Amino acid sequence: MEISFEQEIAQLRLGAGDTFHGEGILAITKALLESGVSYIGGYQGAPVSHLLDVMVQAKDLVAELGVHVEACSNEASAAAMLGASIHYPLRGAVTWKSIVGTNVAADALANLASPGVTGGVLMVIGEDYGEGASVVQERTHAYAMKSGLLLFDPRPELQNMVDMVRHAFRASEASSMPAMMELRIRACHLRGSFICSDNRRPALSALAPMAEPAAFDYGRLAHPPSTFRHEKLKVDERIPAARNYILAHQLNELRGGRHAGVGIVVQGGVSPALLRALQDFGAADAFGHSEVPLLILNVTYPLVHEQIAAFAAGKGALLVVEEGSPEYIEHEIASVLQRHGLKTALHGKDMIAATGELNPEAMLQGLAQFFARHLPAVDVQPVRARLDATAARRQQLAALLQRAASPASAPALPARPPGFCTGCPERPVFSALKLAQQDVGPVHVAADIGCHSFATFEPFSLGHSILGYGMSLASRAGVSPVMQRRVISIMGDGGFWHNGLLTGVQSALFNGDDAVLLIFKNGYTSATGTQDILSTPARADKASAADKTASLTATDRTIEDTLAGIGVQWLRTVHSYRVTTMRRVLREALTTDFRGLKVIVAEGECQLERQRRIRPWLEALLARGERSVRVKYGVDEDVCNGDHACMRLSGCPTLTLKDNPDPLKVDPVATVIDGCVGCGLCGENAHAATLCPSFYRAEVVRNPRWHERAVDALRTLALRVLRPA
Ligand code: SF4
Ligand code: SF4
Repeated sequence: MEISFEQEIAQLRLGAGDTFHGEGILAITKALLESGVSYIGGYQGAPVSHLLDVMVQAKDLVAELGVHVEACSNEASAAAMLGASIHYPLRGAVTWKSIVGTNVAADALANLASPGVTGGVLMVIGEDYGEGASVVQERTHAYAMKSGLLLFDPRPELQNMVDMVRHAFRASEASSMPAMMELRIRACHLRGSFICSDNRRPALSALAPMAEPAAFDYGRLAHPPSTFRHEKLKVDERIPAARNYILAHQLNELRGGRHAGVGIVVQGGVSPALLRALQDFGAADAFGHSEVPLLILNVTYPLVHEQIAAFAAGKGALLVVEEGSPEYIEHEIASVLQRHGLKTALHGKDMIAATGELNPEAMLQGLAQFFARHLPAVDVQPVRARLDATAARRQQLAALLQRAASPASAPALPARPPGFCTGCPERPVFSALKLAQQDVGPVHVAADIGCHSFATFEPFSLGHSILGYGMSLASRAGVSPVMQRRVISIMGDGGFWHNGLLTGVQSALFNGDDAVLLIFKNGYTSATGTQDILSTPARADKASAADKTASLTATDRTIEDTLAGIGVQWLRTVHSYRVTTMRRVLREALTTDFRGLKVIVAEGECQLERQRRIRPWLEALLARGERSVRVKYGVDEDVCNGDHACMRLSGCPTLTLKDNPDPLKVDPVATVIDGCVGCGLCGENAHAATLCPSFYRAEVVRNPRWHERAVDALRTLALRVLRPA
């Protein structure tokens, strides 16, 4: 990874009484160190990647504290790492993106929660839900309920989040329950401040290792018959102990209000949106004071039944503001009211959106219904009028976006899907796959998680299914036997190490499957933030590379060696930008008589990381007044015939359109704008697909040598003479 977290690491060194200023996820990281963790692990993923990225770079700091940091191979290995806290009084923290990461971790989580923990355990979970999410829309809450995990959902304000981290470890130790803290994208990236404590060196650590292992204790094994006792312990002792802690330390916030006849129970994480919506009704101020009584749940599992019942007592109606489905909290509150014999009317998903993020608009709609029914003192008309105006405006815009002419349903403006970075090494491979299908016919494409999933959008539209990270090869096992043409599975090097090697490659080899796997070896887990993996080229190779601009992935053969080592016999490595060669190799893999697993490794360094790597080097050259060359491609507008076949094969954001300079032609011509990084795909595609000869390659030379200046002067003179006046 080429990004430096120097400033963030300096923040982690702050001591007692200092004020931390920064992002939520970094505040959480600091709180872990203040809580005396012995180990930190995890698997990167938005929105919590920053935690592990910073810790991996903070080598000096963690060495001073004796904290062990492990960049785990996937979420299952991160969850299994927490097993250290079953026997030993070690505090530990791991992080990953949910819900997908929690799904991967589920087996280890269940086996951790069953015996319970001695040292406090905290999983910092990126709840990737709602607008901007990149995974399936499900709730982590289900795991807390089924396995018996404490679930923190802190009100997003830095001091509160940090306090909740400190409490999470203590509550985990008091109840033996592992704790989770779900953080939505806004909580991770919101900025603020909090008062620091000193970082704590753990009593047991790499600096102070244990002399002896724990005594054998069958009761600590997640294995029958111990598991039967664990089940009883969870219900009879651990959950009650957790509830006692939550109540004794007032982790959930009660805010009184003059409208005592009603109340709102809200998850801490979505409470700012609720307060903002209450402001619009004139029922709250900008500082979070509410006229409607609130119970803000910083801990959403387990719920403290006595607290809920006390809050509901004497109220005519309760509204539960809970994001996503199913409405677990609402269901539990319903049973609490029933068991306590309370007649309080309960509302939730009957009034507030059951799906999608609870943004202020969704809140306003729900509150308008609730107040209209149960709190006539609040005038809902102004808000309703505004919501109606917004709905009308939305309809108007939708109508404007429809074509006037047929087809009536087609949008006038094209959708703007996300796409590969300019110069991405994965784009040429999909150009080649498109061309290879012209040769062999359309094939079923088992897609995967990673940057390569951008190929599911135009202009490639390649990919029939995505079953999880590293699962593409496994996901074609039922399709390939019933297909006349071979199925192709796409996987990144991140996915290969995360899961693909075991779930896909091993299984395909064991079963002798006639399968084709295309692995993108770009050197990093690019989609999660370009973290290093086992096959990332060594730092020394980067530093010593003679040609700093060359792709570095060729310096590492770990993937190829691993595949050969476990018995892959048909294995080809092809440079990603060689479109003609890649087309030929793909065609061969899809048609060869060889019946076993065929693997093509597409090798080309992630362009984002390459640019981060070479930019400082180029800037240093310029600062020293030394010569530098930047390759750029262009389109000769007089030759371009305006059919745009190049764009349908590329999708590069810097290969775009401009008005045709020829007044007799109406079709816009292709043009390359300034962001071109000179990856060469334009030339490769023109050659591989026999496109029109309008592309040219140019070299932009800075600080040219004297003879280059002289040649340039001569050329300029010749052009001036030859050009018609
Ligand atoms: S981050 Fe790297 S691999 Fe991902 S789209 Fe950008 S250049 Fe391609
Ligand atoms: S050469 Fe073509 S594909 Fe590559 S960055 Fe430039 S415009 Fe984009």
